[in-house]
Amino acid sequence: MSRRIRRNNLKNIVQQKARQTFQNTDSFPEPRFEYQGRKYPDGQPTDPNLPTAYGLPPQDVENQACHNCKFYNNNYCTFWNAPVRHEYWCAKWKSIYYTARPSIEQGDSVREVKSGRVGNVISIVRNQVSWVDNQTGKILTSHLIDLHKLN
Ligand code: SF4
Repeated sequence: MSRRIRRNNLKNIVQQKARQTFQNTDSFPEPRFEYQGRKYPDGQPTDPNLPTAYGLPPQDVENQACHNCKFYNNNYCTFWNAPVRHEYWCAKWKSIYYTARPSIEQGDSVREVKSGRVGNVISIVRNQVSWVDNQTGKILTSHLIDLHKLN
């Protein structure tokens, strides 16, 4: 069998397996990748607009999730035009901090993207921001990329 035929056979087998995996919505070997069945682990379907790369962040991806992506707005992805969950992720992730957001400084009003809490920054040490929650008066600490500067 020629190398080209073997390569085509292998490609067909891989494509067939991928199709079977995609069609099977109930069982996946790793719970981490249940999103490949287009469902969340609780059984809710994911929006069909979302790409197959949408799921829990891969292990080699640190500090990235929808809640600190520039396309995320209140459980909605403006890139894919679809509802998303804040702890999920896709390969189109773009940091809210390293893009159009102005840098955060002492005294700024901020909103924690994940929780929606609002407060004022009292200090910044490297990427850790201490800020006072307006509602509770408590001092909280957040990573810089998890805060959104308010006007
Ligand atoms: S583009 Fe951003 S908000 Fe949209 S699914 Fe991907 S990581 Fe989540």
